[in-house]
Amino acid sequence: MQGIPIEVRTHTALHVVKGAVVKVLGEEAKWTASTYVKENRGVLIVKFSRKPTAEEVAGIERLANEKVEEDVPIEVYELPREEAEKRFGEDMYDLFPIPPDVRTLRVVVIEGWNVNACKEEHAGTTGEVGEIRIRKVRFRPNKELLEVSFEVL
Ligand SMILES: [Zn+2]
Repeated sequence: MQGIPIEVRTHTALHVVKGAVVKVLGEEAKWTASTYVKENRGVLIVKFSRKPTAEEVAGIERLANEKVEEDVPIEVYELPREEAEKRFGEDMYDLFPIPPDVRTLRVVVIEGWNVNACKEEHAGTTGEVGEIRIRKVRFRPNKELLEVSFEVL
């Protein structure tokens, strides 16, 4: 993983983990409320209605690492917002909207896995992220938020 800054790997891991979260927990978990990255540690926070089981958490970690092992390309498209919305729909958005005056979007796509309008810098392939370990999962019932904390190794 030489040459790729650790926070770029960790940020890219957010997209990989998010894809795994939606595969395991379903479409209900598709809205990202916020994210956090510091060095090799990241937190993905999604809207969700319950605490996942230990098996589900293990499944998220396993699927995320399978996607890393597949080493698939991370595509970045820069296109007019209308075109992006036609092509990718609401799935590319997070819970908090991008202001309407933003007319050009950068959309990050891991084919069949994750689509997200995102301005950050990313690795070129999922393999460049490196191994992902889920550190802990916390469900906040009052806010219906699920916090998935992970690290990249
Ligand atoms: Zn991103």
